[in-house]
Amino acid sequence: MLFERQSDVARKGWFRKDSGRRPWRLSVKLLIASSIATVIGFSAICTSVMLDMRRGEEELARQTLENLASSIDADISRNIELYDLSLRAVASNLVMPEIKGVSREIRHLILFDHAATAKHFGVIQVFDAEGKLTHDAATLDPAPEDRSNEEYFQVHRANPGAGLYMSRPMLHRSAYSIVLSRRINDSDGGFLGVVVGSIRFSYFHELFSRLTLNPGDTVTVLRRDRMVIMRTPFDLNIIGRNLAERKSWNPANLKEGGAYAGVGPVDPTPRLYVRSGSTSLFFVVVGKPLASILSLWHREVLRIGAIMMVLILFVVGTTLFLAREIGRRAEAEEKLEELATTDALTGLKNRRKFDAEIDAEWRRAARNGTPVAVLMIDADHFKAYNDSYGHQAGDQVLVGIAICISDSVRRAGDCPARYGGEEFAVLLPSLSAVEAFTVAETIRVKVEQWAEDPKVTTVSIGLASMTPTAAIDWAYLIEAADKALYAAKANGRNQSVVATVPQLALVA
Ligand code: GH3
Ligand code: MG
Ligand code: MG
Repeated sequence: MLFERQSDVARKGWFRKDSGRRPWRLSVKLLIASSIATVIGFSAICTSVMLDMRRGEEELARQTLENLASSIDADISRNIELYDLSLRAVASNLVMPEIKGVSREIRHLILFDHAATAKHFGVIQVFDAEGKLTHDAATLDPAPEDRSNEEYFQVHRANPGAGLYMSRPMLHRSAYSIVLSRRINDSDGGFLGVVVGSIRFSYFHELFSRLTLNPGDTVTVLRRDRMVIMRTPFDLNIIGRNLAERKSWNPANLKEGGAYAGVGPVDPTPRLYVRSGSTSLFFVVVGKPLASILSLWHREVLRIGAIMMVLILFVVGTTLFLAREIGRRAEAEEKLEELATTDALTGLKNRRKFDAEIDAEWRRAARNGTPVAVLMIDADHFKAYNDSYGHQAGDQVLVGIAICISDSVRRAGDCPARYGGEEFAVLLPSLSAVEAFTVAETIRVKVEQWAEDPKVTTVSIGLASMTPTAAIDWAYLIEAADKALYAAKANGRNQSVVATVPQLALVA
């Protein structure tokens, strides 16, 4: 029964584990905090590098598209300009007074001498104020034609300042073309007719075929009013449509010479679109799918992301492992310390721990001006008990006394200890001699009641209480309690005696 209760003593917390004060927890927190900081820092650096890389890819693509847009624009502009020179020449030669006096052949030669004859340019024709064909660069005797219903004819007739007019894409003389036209004025600015030429789609096809375009890339040539003149990939459903009608797309997104990343007005593929800076009749927009611009970047993100994940998992795993190891080691150290400060037989604190506790308590009490009490407890006639019942039975009695002591001492700061042999000591912080005497009597009576034979297992207790000062060592208090213990022995044992200590109010 006694040995069963021995574990109770240990459980009751006489070891004072100081559960709130565990420095290793701080180390674990620091370890986890530094790991989190490392992971966050590392992720932030990687994210910033990846974003920089993305910006670089986009910038490079933008520059490439800008160059492409401006070179296409320049090519088309140069050709239109050349063709316009011919139209201007016809328009101005036609109104020279001298031209009326020459033969048809000479007139034809004069009018169309400079006419551009490149393979994609249509034949230049002249229509009079009624829209009737009067001159044709291809023949001296052209078949009758009437263009009075054509949009370009009506534009020039109504508007003397139309200049070079670019028509919508149309079937002109059985080939898809855009028609370029100029108004012919008499000397007073009156309408004499129009001079008309065309650029065939084949020109654009050839131009685009010279470019190195990837799948998904687009090149669109638009009239200034945003009518699609030509587009690659070629789609007749788009060509001739005016994108200004598509209200879902805001034209301010893509200003002259600017760029726009996102879905365009024609199809749902998100692209980087760049518009040429031309201010002439038309402009060029080139687009490249964002997916293809960023494909290399996406691969890098996946690669670096995977490496990051592995590193993060490694750091997290190592941190968890180290945190557990720190905890384990700390617990092992705590257990070792507990063993080193515990008496193996009784489960009470040993003398070493008692000395450390009284040392700390003594200084705290000196600071606070509170008393410290000590009980010295000694088993009576214990040698005789051993001799009569054997050492084993004696040990059981010591365990029993330890249980009686621990059952009587319940406050948090109290420290009962086995002082050595059959001697015990109890530290009772803040207790006056009167209060300590009550505790001593409780212990003594408990032992007396517990013993089967009161003659052999009683205890004598000497106690002392005093308020420490800087000049006095705690050994003085122990010595006083010890003297009181001897007095108790001398008085006949099984009793508690209070030491006569100066500064001490003695009540016995
Ligand atoms: P008194 O009443 O004057 O204290 O008499 P006493 O016999 O108790 O005193 P004494 O100091 O002469 O004897 C102490 C005895 O305690 C001697 C030793 O055999 C016994 N003892 C000391 N430690 C232990 C222990 O761990 N187990 C057992 N069983 N006996 C112990
Ligand atoms: Mg003794
Ligand atoms: Mg004794």
